[in-house]
Amino acid sequence: MSTGVGTAPGVAPGSTGVDDLSLAVAALTSPELAEIVDLAVWVDADWLHVANAGGSARLPVTDPDGPWEVSHGRHPLACQDPMHGVPLAAALADPSPPNERDSYPYAGRRLLSAFGDATRSPDLIVVHTPRHYWPERGGHLGEHGSLNAGQSRAPLVLSGPGVRTRGLQSGAARIIDVGPTLAALAGVTMPDAEGTPLTRLAGPGARHVVGLLWDGANSNDLLHLAQTGELPNVARLLAEGTALTGGAIAEFPSVTLTNHTSALTGVGPGRHGILHNVYFDRATGRQVIVNDVKTWHAACEQLRDGVETFFEAVARQRPGAVSACVNEPVDRGAHYSTFGLVRSAGNTGGAGDMGDYLPPAEGDPHASVRWVRENLDYAWSTRVDALGLAQVVALWAPGETPPDVMWWNTTITDTGHHGGGPYSEQSRAALRDADARLGSFLDLLAERGLLAETAILLTADHGSEAADPACGGDWGDALRAVGVRFRDEGYGFLYLGESAAGIVAGTVAP
Ligand SMILES: [Zn+2]
Repeated sequence: MSTGVGTAPGVAPGSTGVDDLSLAVAALTSPELAEIVDLAVWVDADWLHVANAGGSARLPVTDPDGPWEVSHGRHPLACQDPMHGVPLAAALADPSPPNERDSYPYAGRRLLSAFGDATRSPDLIVVHTPRHYWPERGGHLGEHGSLNAGQSRAPLVLSGPGVRTRGLQSGAARIIDVGPTLAALAGVTMPDAEGTPLTRLAGPGARHVVGLLWDGANSNDLLHLAQTGELPNVARLLAEGTALTGGAIAEFPSVTLTNHTSALTGVGPGRHGILHNVYFDRATGRQVIVNDVKTWHAACEQLRDGVETFFEAVARQRPGAVSACVNEPVDRGAHYSTFGLVRSAGNTGGAGDMGDYLPPAEGDPHASVRWVRENLDYAWSTRVDALGLAQVVALWAPGETPPDVMWWNTTITDTGHHGGGPYSEQSRAALRDADARLGSFLDLLAERGLLAETAILLTADHGSEAADPACGGDWGDALRAVGVRFRDEGYGFLYLGESAAGIVAGTVAP
């Protein structure tokens, strides 16, 4: 997978000459870039290498759980504790920590998955420091995408029949466990998944199974706000269930489409093929943009062979069961799907042509008026989520046969966390809006007598950490200065020897 054959200076013995990979690693690990480059990562022959200005380490590709060998200096991934920065007070005490105080859960497995695709994996990955602020490339005050615990941690709440425990439980799951866990709740299995069902917490017993993904919701803050009465409907879920305080750790990179796909297929990007929100495919010589309003409806075309979605697992094992997938691009196998409707309509612009069908944000009873007015993205996400709730209400309406399994994706939470950063007025407003829409759904379930028959899993696709507006800069100039030929996709996936692509609007957000 590497066009830059050879090793990087100072990392592995036997370095043979100067090539793009060696030049790039040397430039990226220079002290001048230490504020913005947390890690440079590559696979060379039988080893996974990580390096930064402070040191380097390597891991045999055949042994993803370690141990790591420190090659020189300080181990860049010395701490891999998934509970680092939990609960909220711990995260607030050391926000967006530097490498030496940060943690990188399941680092070997997650990084190796990112290098696992035959034609789409990059040659070299640059991991942003949590503080790196890059508005000129689509970055925000609140950020995710990196390998560390803070940007990778999504919530994990389980509620209703089949859930065996009550209250907060210490521990962390992984996003790849979400699909297998939903399957277990629905009485089916996903045998080829890399994740495992959380059978310690829950099992079969519900007539209906619902998965909720609140994009970008910060796990610590969600649990804190639920406990302090600010998210009364998440609290309703917790009263009939449990949450892992360490949440669910995203696959790498901790970006949206990669992890929506991992949640719903139970495998990492090296298996499902959606390497990033945008990536390059050497097989076609093309840039692939999957996380964009114009391409969401076609995202499943990128799934690699042999991957099964949660909806397909249900259909295979419970042929009579009806599945619904609301506002979610990873919808293959669902009987009802929002993006299936987009595909059927034949709109060449995908959901980009659907603006006229979205309800107005002004007057939405579930929306925070202030942020609808102050942030255009917030207003747009409000409209998308209002359409999401309208579909859910229609699917579960009195007189309708409700779906046996449903997945419902919520967008406003990511928008609010990007706009204001985690723990901000805007991110908390977004969580309250999502909670209010959840409340409408729970009320409808209660009205129909279905609440006690419905198991609900609430998660996200990644976490959110605060960037530091004083921590700017870009590694591109440093790479060009030493003559490296590369294209940088998704801002951090480097394909060496390829000509640089222009920056395409919408390729790095949300
Ligand atoms: Zn997301």
